[in-house]
Amino acid sequence: MKKIIIFLGAPGAGKGTAAGAVAPKINARHVSTGAMLRDALARKTPAGLEAKSYMESGGLVPDEVLCKMIGELLAETSDGTTLFFDGFPRTLAQAEALEKLAADNGAVVHNAVLIDAPEAILLERLGGRRVCPKCGAGYHVTNMPPKTAGICDQCGAELVTRADDQPDTIRHRLEVYQSATAPVVGFYRTAGKVVDVDGSKDAATVAEQVLAACK
Ligand code: AMP
Repeated sequence: MKKIIIFLGAPGAGKGTAAGAVAPKINARHVSTGAMLRDALARKTPAGLEAKSYMESGGLVPDEVLCKMIGELLAETSDGTTLFFDGFPRTLAQAEALEKLAADNGAVVHNAVLIDAPEAILLERLGGRRVCPKCGAGYHVTNMPPKTAGICDQCGAELVTRADDQPDTIRHRLEVYQSATAPVVGFYRTAGKVVDVDGSKDAATVAEQVLAACK
């Protein structure tokens, strides 16, 4: 059986940071659909080119693109693997589709970790976020700065601000979260699968709570 743990929470809640920190501890595979789409876009694949305008405006990429990507990923994943889904599902339609994709591919949604934080914290985190365009490592100018300002610790590339981390786009992404993704939380709550984590705490404390939820 393949085990799926879903990371839910608004942009900036710390899903990626927590998933990235905990995955190596339990040998899980961290699957970020945002990172997969950015990679597809950089390689100019058909899916990447289709996703481009949606991503740049902070909107959601069509469900079919995501469901196809996740279906292929589940099919190629070996049995016994634990997958951390960071950024998927983001709509009710995706959550419903995942039930079928999981059943068809010998996978089960174990639980959904909801990382919650007040809006002021989300805005501060997204505004200060920097990423490495080469290896994908994430930083924050004050909370998680690189050793040398502006340079990736892992590969030495120059860090950038994500195109969708500009103030107007951030606001739009938070609205999209409330309208399209918040219902996904209800979906997993009804199924009794939500584990609540306080995302306003520091990264190490959040990671500890997430690790406990993976049992
Ligand atoms: P993220 O890195 O998770 O913040 O995702 C960046 C962008 O990729 C989002 O703002 C969306 O445009 C797109 N994206 C990522 N995951 C999904 C998804 N599950 N459904 C639709 N769009 C997505």
